[in-house]
Amino acid sequence: MIRLPPARAETTEAFLMQSGAELAALCTECGACFNACPMVDYIDLRGADPNIVTGGLRRLASGEAAPDQTVAWVGACTKSGQCVDACPQKAAGLDAMLLIRIAKQRAINDTRQLRAKQDPSYFPRIKTFARLQLSDEELETWL
Ligand code: SF4
Repeated sequence: MIRLPPARAETTEAFLMQSGAELAALCTECGACFNACPMVDYIDLRGADPNIVTGGLRRLASGEAAPDQTVAWVGACTKSGQCVDACPQKAAGLDAMLLIRIAKQRAINDTRQLRAKQDPSYFPRIKTFARLQLSDEELETWL
């Protein structure tokens, strides 16, 4: 039987609070992740000040409101991962993409600066995926 690693926190919200603050504390607002991000060109932010945008990144990850440019940037994240190696704090344990993803989620959950996407096919897709993965007994119990 495959053993899953222990959960990083009791709840998703607890994880976002705890890891968001920890990662934000490692960030120096240098802007390297922003400069490396391919999405910046697609959301017309290439001329924005990287230090201001990433200053907002730290605030969002800590649950505080951030400038509109930061919100637009984290909202556009497509998980390219280009930021991870660009981050000079990587060796210190900072996963820039995780910081950005947490900031995005906190912009939805906490500061309410981003609206959660309304996707009418979200739950049907989960059910379809589950049907491919679960046994008949599990399907009977869960779906
Ligand atoms: S996450 Fe890393 S690359 Fe991005 S601003 Fe912070 S220290 Fe710089």
